[in-house]
Parts: sequence; structure tokens; C-alpha cells
Amino acid sequence: MRIILLGAPGAGKGTVAKLLTEFDGSVQISTGDILRSAVKAGTALGRKAKEYMDRGDLVPDALIMDIMEARLQEPDCRNGFILDGFPRTIPQAEELKKLLARLSIRLDFVVNLDVPREVILDRLTTRRTCCNPACQAIYNVKSNPPNADGTCTLCSHETIQRDDETEEAINNRLETYNSKTAPLIGFYEKEGLLKTFLSLSSKDTVADIKKALGA
Ligand code: ADP
Ligand code: ZN
Repeated sequence: MRIILLGAPGAGKGTVAKLLTEFDGSVQISTGDILRSAVKAGTALGRKAKEYMDRGDLVPDALIMDIMEARLQEPDCRNGFILDGFPRTIPQAEELKKLLARLSIRLDFVVNLDVPREVILDRLTTRRTCCNPACQAIYNVKSNPPNADGTCTLCSHETIQRDDETEEAINNRLETYNSKTAPLIGFYEKEGLLKTFLSLSSKDTVADIKKALGA
């Protein structure tokens, strides 16, 4: 499959993307994960991105486009990809359109995950993430807790609250989503690519997306 996942922070893009990769071997491409690994590794990219990320601000479009132009040409993308957290702005969407045309890649469609605001707020404040870069399992202290001592059930590393999951950064991320990313819904509607899914359970949503793909 070749799809884009759109949705507010906390809408479940990461969880849905992971479930979809298990289904047909398409790769999940998360710009958030790529940036977090770069920050952890202390690369030039990571050093540039960190201050934006910690505040809950978007990283500049030019940096993101450089990452994605290279990433989409890696061999593992040939079998399909699920874009998770990209594009995030209208300029990114416009650049992506040109890039895909240049690479002769056609998208199946764009998935808009529609989740009520209360659900999103609750999810973001209760989220924990495995700190092992090779794992990055996502937990919820209420509905899907890690081990009692706070370690990951899959790899036993610590699970942590991300720097951008403080209340202030969360509010900023939601505001940024509304002003910069929500306009992509209109953009892809005009392109004839948008499909909106009311999404309360990631599993149900994955089943709905598979159905829409004709699988
Ligand atoms: P979430 O969707 O939960 O906010 P992500 O893991 O997708 O988080 O992204 C974390 C942070 O990485 C964002 O707050 C932003 O600073 C940066 N980021 C990720 N993707 C992009 C993008 N496409 N454009 C600009 N910044 C991005
Ligand atoms: Zn883990």
C-alpha cells in the first residue's frame, strides 16, 4: 500500500501504521521517529531539530523534505509505505506531490483519522514510550500499561514520557496541528485522495482501511 496517515497528535497514527505494516510488509515511515533517533544519536540533523521538537513546534519544512526525499528512494519503499506524521504543512504536501510525480509513485489514498478531542487529550497525557530505539513500543498507563515497574513488556527497557508530552508542549502541538496540519484535509479532499475514518479503536480502523484498499 502507499498511503498517508493524517490525524492530530494522539490520534493513533503510529499504532495504526504499525498494525498496517504487519499486514502487507509496507514500511512505516515516521518523521517523528527519524527525528527522535537523530536527536538521540546527536547528528547534525538531530542538533538542528531538538529545540523545535521539545517546544512542540514543527521542524522547518526544508529539513523534513531532505529527509523524505532520501527516505522514499530507499529500496524498502518499493513494496509500499505508510507515511506517519508527514506531510505536516501545506508546503510539505505540495513538495511531496512534486516528489512523488518525479519518482512515478501513485498514492492509494490519504487516511484522515478523526478522533474526538477529549479522547486525544486523555491519550497524550497517559502515553508512555519504550526508550529502546529499536523497539519504541507505545503504552497507555490506563488501557495498555507497561510492566508494573514501568519497563517495556517486549524488551524490558524503561518506558518514558516524551519531552514533548508535558501539558504545555501538548497544548502547543494541538494548536500547531489545527493551524498548520488540519488544512491538509482540504488539500487532499481537492486532490480526490481523502478518506476519513472515525477512529476510536486502532484495530477497527485498521480493518476499515484494509477494506478500503480492497484487501
Ligand atoms: P505527534 O504526531 O505525536 O505530535 P511525531 O512523533 O509525529 O509526534 O512528531 C514529533 C515532533 O517531530 C513534532 O512535534 C515535530 O516537532 C517533529 N516533526 C515530526 N514530523 C514532522 C514534519 N513532517 N514536519 C515538521 N516537524 C515534524
Ligand atoms: Zn521496548
